[in-house]
Amino acid sequence: MVRRFFLVNGWTEAASEEKADCVILFTCAEMRYKVVNMTKEVERLSGRIAPNSELIVGSCLPKTNKEALAKVFQGRTITPTDFSALNALPDITIKIEDMPPIFGRNAAFEPFDERRPRGGGDITALSRLSHWASGFVHRHFPIPGSQDMAARLARTRRMVIYVSAGCAKNCSYCAIRFATGQVRSKPLDLVMQNISEGLRLGYGAFDLLSDSIGGYGLDLGTSLGELFDRVLAHPGQFTVAISDLHPQELIRYFGKILSLCQAGRIHYLYVPVQSGNERILRMMNRPCDVKDLTNKLMAIRSFGGVFLRTGIMVGFPGETEAEFEESLVFLKTIGFDDVFVHYYCDMPNTHSSTLPGKLDKATMAERLNKVNRSGIRYCVEATRHEWESNLVIS
Ligand code: SF4
Repeated sequence: MVRRFFLVNGWTEAASEEKADCVILFTCAEMRYKVVNMTKEVERLSGRIAPNSELIVGSCLPKTNKEALAKVFQGRTITPTDFSALNALPDITIKIEDMPPIFGRNAAFEPFDERRPRGGGDITALSRLSHWASGFVHRHFPIPGSQDMAARLARTRRMVIYVSAGCAKNCSYCAIRFATGQVRSKPLDLVMQNISEGLRLGYGAFDLLSDSIGGYGLDLGTSLGELFDRVLAHPGQFTVAISDLHPQELIRYFGKILSLCQAGRIHYLYVPVQSGNERILRMMNRPCDVKDLTNKLMAIRSFGGVFLRTGIMVGFPGETEAEFEESLVFLKTIGFDDVFVHYYCDMPNTHSSTLPGKLDKATMAERLNKVNRSGIRYCVEATRHEWESNLVIS
């Protein structure tokens, strides 16, 4: 959408950041290590762009970690729900709020599409193969960067469809929702049109992306369940990847998900469970019946073509050793293709940051080592460097 804003105002794309009059960095501040990486990138770009050009920092970081950003950057910012600062740039005749609406609504508050892959042909089998390759790389070559490498490999020929932005949940540790705002969904017919168009162009796999896909359609009087029904009924040979599905939504739409699995329509499912202990899940404001969830995930696990992934947070405030062990048992029981393991860290203005019982580093490190020794396939590289370098960012 930002790209379209510049194009309609007569700007052109520069060949490199050094040659641009304006560079926009979109940031992610989901966890502390990302805040660290993004602030470093802001510093790097500040020193790299041409003397008269401008760096704009966008997305979550300016909203959720203002203080951390202010230490390295004092320029213009935009957030996921407010792009109005772009209107003050030179030669802007069409303001962002006056742009032609897309999907029948204001463009400034709509998710956008991105087509990373190029090429044609039915790629369903290729996509499945690439997911298998991705898992293989994680399992056998857990070196720094292997995850990105595998993800790039797995993405080479798939179409990405952004189905919604924002989140309706209220997880106690999460600061992203402060930045992403309320749910804004792409109309169901348009999502299906995107799939039809992709099929016509030869794509066979579609990544249905969202900040939190469980909330899809809440703003439009529809639901993720209806989206699943339409995906199942849609003609053609294709599969979908479903990311960031809240466990409560997995339970709610389990019957439809199972039908999709039976029809071979899902090749990737990421359900970030975060803990296998119900008290901790309640503290996270993600209450869930773990036994029920386990049974449902096991049923999905029985479909070999689905790459099943989860995320686990180690060391939520007050987590006991026994509660952590329950997470381990949960992971072992399901046998996920990949687990993203990350440490708990306080994020600004979250409820969990006010909770007592913060765990010390040694305890968290020991729990992580237990994951390591347990034989569970996991990826933790992303957070390890933050831990080891002892970085602290508020
Ligand atoms: S589901 Fe929870 S963790 Fe995910 S974006 Fe929403 S509030 Fe944050």
